[in-house]
Amino acid sequence: MKLTSISFWGLLLLLSVDLIYGGTDYYSILDVPRSATTREIKKKYKLLSKRYHPDKNPGDKEAEQKFVQLAQAYEVLSDDEKRSLYDQYGEEGLKHNTGGQGFHNPFDIFRDFFGHGNQQTERRGPDVVMELELELKELYLGTQFEVDVSKQVICEKCRGTGAKSADDLITCTSCNGNGVKVVKQMLGPGIFQQFHSTCDKCDGKGKIVKTKCPVCEGKKVRRTNEQLTVIIDAGMADGDVKKFDKESDEAPDTIPGDIIFRVKTIPHPQFERKGDDLYTRETISLIDALTGFEKNFTHLDGRTVILKRDQVTQPGFVEVIENEGMPQKERKSKGDLYVEYTVVFPSVIDGNKKQGLKNLFPNADRITSKHEHKEL
Ligand SMILES: [Zn+2]
Ligand SMILES: [Zn+2]
Repeated sequence: MKLTSISFWGLLLLLSVDLIYGGTDYYSILDVPRSATTREIKKKYKLLSKRYHPDKNPGDKEAEQKFVQLAQAYEVLSDDEKRSLYDQYGEEGLKHNTGGQGFHNPFDIFRDFFGHGNQQTERRGPDVVMELELELKELYLGTQFEVDVSKQVICEKCRGTGAKSADDLITCTSCNGNGVKVVKQMLGPGIFQQFHSTCDKCDGKGKIVKTKCPVCEGKKVRRTNEQLTVIIDAGMADGDVKKFDKESDEAPDTIPGDIIFRVKTIPHPQFERKGDDLYTRETISLIDALTGFEKNFTHLDGRTVILKRDQVTQPGFVEVIENEGMPQKERKSKGDLYVEYTVVFPSVIDGNKKQGLKNLFPNADRITSKHEHKEL
């Protein structure tokens, strides 16, 4: 930007305008002295722009305004030409000398600052969540298995550069390796508009590949299969996860996401799980209900569990068998098993047997008041 076109009187006028209106103090916005070096200015912008970024202060109008002011202050003070104009003639001097173009989008400034050079912040790839459908038996006993995962990895031949050799990776001459180009456009005599645009030659990467890597054909990555051993601990339940840190797809300049396996139980025909407890149903005959019984069933681990009663069992009675539920993670004990009894009544009773039953239970109409019936 040249100053020659502005007359002495023009300068004097600008100066007086600045004095009258005071103007914005970019130095105090960035909290740096007027003698600050470009390095100090960058350091302060880095610190403060992160602190006031709207993503970190949702809905905070003051922080948002501060973020915009920081970007404007940085835009002026990090540019030697703009800074010297501002130092001499204040805000007004800038407006007149840049054709009143205003400021760049504060988010672009933020992104440009953090997106290039060695201050780059690494992106994090997405997590991959996979559902693992497991039998109740597998969750009771615990198990382990191999899962074949298709995965993108950085090409080990070119280490993710995409170039055949180190000499095949050259600095982009179009942007001098910056990834961005400063484009100046003349709007009128002595009035320029200046803006940044992503370099189209290198797609903003700053480097150009001369000869592509023969292994990945310049793609920098390749697909492969990886075997992961998933260990299911006894007692794991729906929603529990096994996480493999940073085992997801790799990409250049990216921290891989995690692979997460989430447990989902396949419904079991005999047992229902609630927390660490198991629920099941047993059907008994009327005679069993009246005289007692001994039955057995096979548990999830193949053991035979004996159900034995010598009392009367009411329909819907629930027996609690301690320690026969699911194993509890990180503890040696188990939950309980709840057995609900269903009594099958005969559908027909011959007329001549009825009197016999009445003789057997003379007080049958009085026994319903006190029994051990429990609801599940
Ligand atoms: Zn370029
Ligand atoms: Zn390669």
